[in-house]
Amino acid sequence: MHQEILKGLPDDIKLVAVSKTKAVSDIRRVYDVGQRIFGENRCEEMRKKFEELPKDIDWHMIGHLQSRQVKIIALFVKLIHSVDSLKLIHAANKEAAKHNRIIDCLLQIRIAKEETKTGLSIEEAEELLSCGDFKNLKNIRIIGVMGMATFTQDEDIVRGEFKQLKEYFESDDNFKEISAGMSGDYKIAINEGSTIIRIGSLIFGRRCVK
Ligand SMILES: *Cc1c(COP(=O)(O)O)cnc(C)c1O
Repeated sequence: MHQEILKGLPDDIKLVAVSKTKAVSDIRRVYDVGQRIFGENRCEEMRKKFEELPKDIDWHMIGHLQSRQVKIIALFVKLIHSVDSLKLIHAANKEAAKHNRIIDCLLQIRIAKEETKTGLSIEEAEELLSCGDFKNLKNIRIIGVMGMATFTQDEDIVRGEFKQLKEYFESDDNFKEISAGMSGDYKIAINEGSTIIRIGSLIFGRRCVK
């Protein structure tokens, strides 16, 4: 399935294989066919997998992250998709500095209508970016936005939400990446300008409910 997804992707789209809850042996199989970007949503789990797997993997954090957890992944995390507070940005900067690294970050934008989805409203994101002090942070870079669409069969709703994300993306010249699209909606996301898609179940099969 991994190969089939790749075949249909434009060259400039990055594929994150979302391996949360999956075993190291499952990740290894996908690594062996050439995949190098994997996404996880828990720090301890990602750290353990980082330690056990080849070091040329790019690890992306896609789940909600508490400031105090950043230190668990600061040594190696390549991109944090789920940045939603100034506090987290400062924590990431501080922990990245300890390792003499720069951690790339995306602001997670709340585009779905559902109450449960986390992230910043566009107004909150604008307010956060206008806070002067964060521009002096040397060890993080905010390179774009991430969003999750409403879980629905109604493609018009999903498309509208991705369009909203793209529109906000275009308002800031520093933004380079849009992380949008999962197993169920990645084709719509790509049509609406996504540059990074995050695919779990289509690659690894369904996750067991914990
Ligand atoms: C689990 C998860 C995915 C992957 O979802 P699938 O539907 O299995 O492709 C993508 N993004 C985030 C933020 C996730 O938590």
